[in-house]
Amino acid sequence: MASEKYDVAIVGAGIVGCATAYYLARAGIAVALLDKGSVAEEASRAAAGMLAPLGGENTDPAQPLERFYLTALQFHEQVEQEIQQFSDTHIGYSHTPTLRLAFDDEAATKWQKVENIYKDVLPGLRWLDREEALKAEPLLSDRVQGALISPREHNVQSPKLTQAFAQAASRHGARIFEGRTVGKMIVRENKVVGIETDQGPIAAAAVVLAAGAWTSAWHSQPDQAPVFPVKGQMMALSPLPHQHLRHTIYYSGMGCIVPKADGSICVGSTIERGIFDKAVTVEGIASLTGTVQKLTPALGSARFERSWAGIRPGSRDDLPLIGPSKSTDGLWLAGGLYRDGILAGPLVGHIIAEQIQRHVTPFDLDLSTFDPDRFGGWRGLVAR
Ligand SMILES: Cc1cc2nc3c(=O)[nH]c(=O)nc-3n(C[C@H](O)[C@H](O)[C@H](O)COP(=O)(O)OP(=O)(O)OC[C@H]3O[C@@H](n4cnc5c(N)ncnc54)[C@H](O)[C@@H]3O)c2cc1C
Repeated sequence: MASEKYDVAIVGAGIVGCATAYYLARAGIAVALLDKGSVAEEASRAAAGMLAPLGGENTDPAQPLERFYLTALQFHEQVEQEIQQFSDTHIGYSHTPTLRLAFDDEAATKWQKVENIYKDVLPGLRWLDREEALKAEPLLSDRVQGALISPREHNVQSPKLTQAFAQAASRHGARIFEGRTVGKMIVRENKVVGIETDQGPIAAAAVVLAAGAWTSAWHSQPDQAPVFPVKGQMMALSPLPHQHLRHTIYYSGMGCIVPKADGSICVGSTIERGIFDKAVTVEGIASLTGTVQKLTPALGSARFERSWAGIRPGSRDDLPLIGPSKSTDGLWLAGGLYRDGILAGPLVGHIIAEQIQRHVTPFDLDLSTFDPDRFGGWRGLVAR
C-alpha cells in the first residue's frame, strides 16, 4: 500500500498532536506527525495560553472534567521542566497568578463559593476585598468589588510550547511532515492500516486524530458533527514602562488580559460559534478594547501591537473526545478541547501515548465521559 511505514500516524500538529508525538517517540515508537500547514499554525498559535481550570461554573472538583483539568494544571509543572531542555529558547511559561474579578454582589458570592470549594486543591486560592485587590494589582479598575486570587494558575506562550513539543518529538526520532494534508483513513477488516495524504499513502498500525476544529471531517454523521469551530479574536498590547501588569485578569463572560513572558499583554477573546474564517473584525476589536476599558482602564494608553484570530475545537456537549474509537480498531481521538486545549493538551498527549502502549490510564482518571464515539462512529476508506 505505502512505502512509508510507521507505528503511529498523528493527524494535526497543534499542541495535542505535538504532545502525543513526543510521548510516543520518547517511548521508542515510530511516529509520523502530519499537518496540512505547519506546527502550531491554528488554535495552538492563537491561544491566550491561560492554564486556568477554574471556569466559574465548576462546583465539584471531583467531577471528571474538573478533576481532569486540575490534573492537567499539575501536569504542566512536569512539562515545563521536561520540555524546556529540548528548546534553545525559553518556552514561555510565566508564573504570574490569576485574578478573577467581581463587579457586583452576585459575582463576589460566586467566587467566594469557588474559593471554599477549591481551596484545598488549589493552595493559595483566596478572596481579596476591593482594597486588597487594588493593592495587589494597581492597574485594576477602581470599580472592582473584589477578586479571587489564584497563585497556581499561570500562563504559557502556546506557540512556543507547541513548537518545543515538536522539537522534543523530533529529537526522539518522530518524523514531522508539514504541508501534508491528510484525507481518508485506510481501513481493512475494520482495522485502520494507514492514511491517505495529498502526497501518497502512509501505512500505520494506529492513527491519532488530533485535527482540532477539523476533526469532524472523519465523523460518520456530518450532520451530528461532534466537534465544531468556535472563532476567537485576540489582540496584543505593548505596555508603557509604568504599566506593569502583575496578574492574569479574568472576568467571566467578557474575557482575559494576560501578561506574557515576552513582556507583551494579550487580550482575549471573542466567542463566535460555527465560524472557520480567521478575519479580525471591527466588532471583534471593539469587544477587546471594551474588555481593557472595563477591567484595566489604566492600560488604555498601552500601544496596540497586533491582532489575530484562531479556531477553537468546540464540542457538542463541551466535553473533550479522548481515547480509542470502538468503531474502528487502531483509531484514537484526541480533541474537542475547546477553550482549554493549552491547559489540557500535554496531558491528553501523555494519556493517548500511554493508552496506545496498553498501559493503565495515568493519574487514575475516569475518561468514560470523554468517549469519542458518544455521537456516533468514525469513518475511513475500505482498502481493497
Ligand atoms: C483566541 C483563542 C484563545 C484561547 N485561549 C486559551 C487559553 O487561554 N487556554 C487554553 O487552555 N486554551 C485556549 N484556547 C484553546 C486552545 O487554543 C485549543 O483548545 C487548542 O489549541 C487545541 O489544540 P489542538 O491541537 O486540538 O488543535 P489545533 O491547534 O487547531 O491543531 C490542529 C491541527 O490539525 C491540522 N489539521 C486539520 N485538518 C488536517 C488535515 N486534514 N490534514 C493535516 N492536518 C490537519 C491543522 O492544520 C492544525 O494545525 C484558545 C483558543 C483560541 C482560538
